[in-house]
Amino acid sequence: MYLQDLWKQILFAASREIPKNHFLVWFANTGILDFENSILRVGTPNPTAQATIHQKFLQILLKCAKEVEPEIQEIIIELDSTLSQEEDVRRIDVTEVVTVEKKSRKHIQPIPLPSPVSSGLATFLNPHYTLDGFVPGKDNNLAHAACSRVAEKPGTAFNPLFIFGGVGLGKTHLLQGIGNAILKNHPDASILYLTAERFLNEYVACVRKSNMIELRKRYRNVDCLIVDDIHFIARKEGTQEEFFHTFNELREANKQIVLSSDCPPRALLDIDERLKSRFASGMVVEVSFPDSETRLAILQRKCQEEKIVLAPEILELIAENVYQSIRELEGLLTQIMAQIKLQNFVPTIKSVGRMIQEHSGSKKVHGLKEEEMTGELKVRKAEEIIELISQHFQISKEELMGASRKKEILIARQLCMYLIYEVLRYSYDSIGSLFAGRNHTTALHAHHKIRELILRDQKIASDCLVLKREMGL
Ligand code: ADP
Ligand code: MG
Repeated sequence: MYLQDLWKQILFAASREIPKNHFLVWFANTGILDFENSILRVGTPNPTAQATIHQKFLQILLKCAKEVEPEIQEIIIELDSTLSQEEDVRRIDVTEVVTVEKKSRKHIQPIPLPSPVSSGLATFLNPHYTLDGFVPGKDNNLAHAACSRVAEKPGTAFNPLFIFGGVGLGKTHLLQGIGNAILKNHPDASILYLTAERFLNEYVACVRKSNMIELRKRYRNVDCLIVDDIHFIARKEGTQEEFFHTFNELREANKQIVLSSDCPPRALLDIDERLKSRFASGMVVEVSFPDSETRLAILQRKCQEEKIVLAPEILELIAENVYQSIRELEGLLTQIMAQIKLQNFVPTIKSVGRMIQEHSGSKKVHGLKEEEMTGELKVRKAEEIIELISQHFQISKEELMGASRKKEILIARQLCMYLIYEVLRYSYDSIGSLFAGRNHTTALHAHHKIRELILRDQKIASDCLVLKREMGL
């Protein structure tokens, strides 16, 4: 069994024993470093995860590991920063593990693992990546449309389809999305998605075992072959030769081929001319970094998927400040979501600004003034907060403090109590008595109510954020 597959099975078992939110955070980007003398060495790029897994989950993990592989006697958790790189094939996508878990909850069974040399239906497809889930924007419209077309008419429309572009711009997402869409339209199709690196490794393993017939059977009998990051086979002549023949055979049989790379076919270095011209013989499309409007739409979509409500000002700030890749964009969002889920922390403009600063290594945060990042808290007394709320909602102080049960007034009053508690740390008792001699349960109730509303009502989330921003938070 490949080490990745072993780790996937162990994670699958562990995901049933560890609360999902913890599992997703702490086991992200983990992978097996090696397995020798009954000791399994597991790596994570994150020092906090290393400590947490070690302290909290080692026992459960060991138990699950023994179920999968009785050989394992001990597990060591180590720090390995290279695992933070997306290209690292040792790491497993934990969201995928959890998705599979959800589907098979009724009959719990191990993930059906593709053995390296056998033909399967849809191998290595992650159902999370769909074409519908890809936000096209105006820059990537063409790439998205080409993918949809191929998914509708595989083998006829554009063959091969070649997608190129920089890191973290959605190539893998589109490739996987094509695979998933073809499978949806043609449930019997056999689709093989893999990275060029995996193709290379399998080729090398088969050469060593003189097993080329098996290899060819596997690759040449599919309806759709999707190979990600094809530039990886540069300088590997044997692999290129094998891929050339695979390509031709599939192409002649009108089977769909989809490829991705970091540059257009003719710019590929150290790849055989014959291959390059084959790659360019169908449709070549580029994915590029989307404009800020599309970046915002991507963030909104991810929030919907995760069922998290964030103030639009926060999403705008992130969208404005990420210049490299969508992966980076998602990374910041995930960090914020983790704070909300695990630490119950409501993000402010300032806290998100700090995150952006840390992330970019620069002091400048686009869309925030420098004073906003360095300034101190501007309110000291409850009266000042009451004044701010009264202005923000255009409600008189008398009404705000009075007995009206009109919905807008009630919400404004509750938000006011919430902020006095959160920002100035007044007791519930003293907050209650500020508001026409109410008692502490009113203030307590208001605090709980708003805390809950912030997580599901975008208007309240935004009001709260804007008010805190005015207070210098
Ligand atoms: P690449 O393979 O080009 O390095 P990925 O396909 O892995 O990039 O994309 C990185 C992340 O960004 C993925 O989680 C993907 O879902 C997301 N992503 C990229 N572009 C988009 C988009 N236009 N809409 C939605 N998600 C996107
Ligand atoms: Mg990729």
